[in-house]
Amino acid sequence: MYDIVIIGAGTAGLSAAIYTRRSGKSCLVLEASAYGGQIINAPDIENYPGIKHISGFDFATGLFEQATDLGAEFAFEKALSIEDQGETKVVHTDSNTYPCKAVILATGAKNRPLGLDREQELIGKGISYCATCDGMFYRGKAVAVSGGGNTALEDAAFLSNYCSKVYLVHRRDQFRGDEKDVAVLRGKENVEFVLNANVTKLLGEERLNGVEVTDKFSGEKRVLPVEGLFVAIGQMPDNAPFANLVTLDNGGYIKADESCLTGTPGIYTAGDCRTKTVRQLTTAAADGAIAALAACGRL
Ligand code: NAP
Repeated sequence: MYDIVIIGAGTAGLSAAIYTRRSGKSCLVLEASAYGGQIINAPDIENYPGIKHISGFDFATGLFEQATDLGAEFAFEKALSIEDQGETKVVHTDSNTYPCKAVILATGAKNRPLGLDREQELIGKGISYCATCDGMFYRGKAVAVSGGGNTALEDAAFLSNYCSKVYLVHRRDQFRGDEKDVAVLRGKENVEFVLNANVTKLLGEERLNGVEVTDKFSGEKRVLPVEGLFVAIGQMPDNAPFANLVTLDNGGYIKADESCLTGTPGIYTAGDCRTKTVRQLTTAAADGAIAALAACGRL
């Protein structure tokens, strides 16, 4: 039996694994896809204290190696449910069952879709949720980015380096992301801001060949002749499988106290999947440490 099973190998989960191992407890980290979580696709991280610049891949790989070197174990399996047997919790995955003494839910969040007709069908045919993964396919072409947070700003800056034109479509005229990044984009000749507007239609048969945007106030419609649309409108959690043991807020995030403890003894949560106001690498790492130390302290 493991002391702690950590669900999710993003920044929060990997930080929890490091602190668990440094506390002398055993842990298994379950991850449905690849280690690193959302940050693995960030081209450049500039706001993690003590590190001036690092790619998301290098950051995540460093965390993964640090956890592995300390003896954290990993299984790339999707956690489907948790059974609460009192002192023992049992985590069921798609292929195994893991009894443990405590669980840390660090499930992160997944990309929010625009919810437009044919959005799913056109993924990989013009629609993408990851500029760093797919941006190179649009070299020399016109693309649009939808969103106004740090991800959208970073995506637009990244794409502007090799796309002929980048439209940044945002539903307000104020950006949620950092002003410093907005200023950089304003200085780029091939970036056009399309503000107070929403993407309302995806155009093209086999592949995307344009998007319709609609002005929020005038209702005026305009077609942007783009071959790619990068959707960067935030994330949404995926905590429903664990709702029997934890309380979710209206947005589906897990409620927890200052020690990252949920309403169920022995079940903790850390990182972006948790109810909080600031979702940053720093807060994910901090949550991981807090949850792991609280869980270890209880064992
Ligand atoms: P975010 O900060 O939640 O921003 C989402 C953006 O999408 C907002 O501008 C929002 O508009 C817009 N939006 C949401 N739903 C929409 C919809 N249905 N239609 C159109 N627009 C919609 O998400 P994010 O940019 O992915 O960032 C997530 C977190 O990661 C943030 O805390 C961010 O600071 C952090 N992050 C940090 C870095 C970094 O530090 N290097 C890089 C990337 C992300 P409104 O503004 O009108 O709500």
